[in-house]
Amino acid sequence: MKLEEIKKKIKEVGEKAVKEISTISEGDTEKLERWKVKYLGRKGAVNDLFTSLSLLSSEERKEAGIQINALKNKLISAYEENKSKIESKREEKKVNLSFPGKPPETGAFHPITLISREITTIFIKMGFGVVTGPEIETDYYNFGALNIPDEHPSKDVWDTFYIAEKEKILLRTHTSPVQVRIMEKVSPPLRIITIGKCFRRDDIDATHSPVFHQIEGLMVDRGINFSHLKGILTHFIMEMFGNTVKVKFTPSFFPFTEPSAEVSMSCNICKGIGCSTCHNTGYIEVLGCGMVHPQVFRNVGYNPDEFTGFAFGMGIERLAIIKFGITDIRYFFQNDTRVIKQFN
Ligand SMILES: [Zn+2]
Repeated sequence: MKLEEIKKKIKEVGEKAVKEISTISEGDTEKLERWKVKYLGRKGAVNDLFTSLSLLSSEERKEAGIQINALKNKLISAYEENKSKIESKREEKKVNLSFPGKPPETGAFHPITLISREITTIFIKMGFGVVTGPEIETDYYNFGALNIPDEHPSKDVWDTFYIAEKEKILLRTHTSPVQVRIMEKVSPPLRIITIGKCFRRDDIDATHSPVFHQIEGLMVDRGINFSHLKGILTHFIMEMFGNTVKVKFTPSFFPFTEPSAEVSMSCNICKGIGCSTCHNTGYIEVLGCGMVHPQVFRNVGYNPDEFTGFAFGMGIERLAIIKFGITDIRYFFQNDTRVIKQFN
C-alpha cells in the first residue's frame, strides 16, 4: 500500500503547490521565491517525495519516480512562467512606449554674443573691418604704447592680473593693444573694430566682473576730426537703441586720446525722466572716446602731422544690460540657460 500512499501524496503536493502559486499576486517576487523554496528547495516537498522512494520496491520506485519527476517539471515551469511575467512587467515599466517623448533641449545665443553681433554688424555697414588679438599681453602693448605712464593707477597690481610681473606679462585690461598691433603692421587709412575678453582685478558684484568683454574702434586717415567721431558714434547709438534716443558728449580724460569724451544716451528705461538705472540723471553712460593722442601715433610710426584719427571703446556687458534690462552682470557668467534663452 506504500505506493498508493506516495501517489496520493504526489497528487496532494501538486494540487497544493498549483493552488498556492495562483494566489501569488503579480510582482510579489518575495512570495514567489518562498514558494520555490517550499516546493523545489533542497528540503522542499518534492525532495521529500524523492526521499520516500527508498521505502518502495525497485518496480514501484520506478513508477513513483516518473510521477515525482513530472510533478517537479510542472512546478519548475509554473515558477519560470510566473517569474518571467514579473520581469516583463518590470520591463514595461522601464520603457513605456505610450509615454510622450522628451524633447531635446535646444541652446540659445548668449546675450553677449547677440550684442556683439549687433554692434559689429552696424560698424561693418559703415566700412569697419573686424580684428582680434592676444588676451595675454606685454606691459608695452597694454600700457606703454598707449601713452599710459608707469605711475598710472591702472598699472597697479591691484588692478591688473600679472602672469609674470618681472617680465611684465599680463592679461590685457582692455582691447586697445590690438589697435597698436594693427597700426604697427598697417599704414593709414584704417577703419577697424576689435572685440574680445578683458581682465581686471575687480571683485565680483552686481556691476563688476574680473572678466568682461569690450569692443573698440579706430579710424585713422588724413583730415579725420571730432565731427567724424560724433557722427559715427551717434549713428551707432541710434542704430542700436532707436532714432528717438538723445546722445550727449561730455569732456573726459584718457591717456591715449586728446580731447577725450564720455558718450551718454537718454535713459531708455525712464525715457529721460529719471530712474534708479540712470541715477535720476535721465542719461546712461555708454562709451568712452576721443581723438587719438599724437604720442600713440608716434609710438607706432605714424606721422601725427599727416594723420589724425579717433578711437572709442565700450563694455559689451554694459550695452547688454541697457538693451535687455538685465540688472546684474553676474547673470552673464552663471551659465543658467533660463537667463540666456530669454533674449533670442
Ligand atoms: Zn532712467
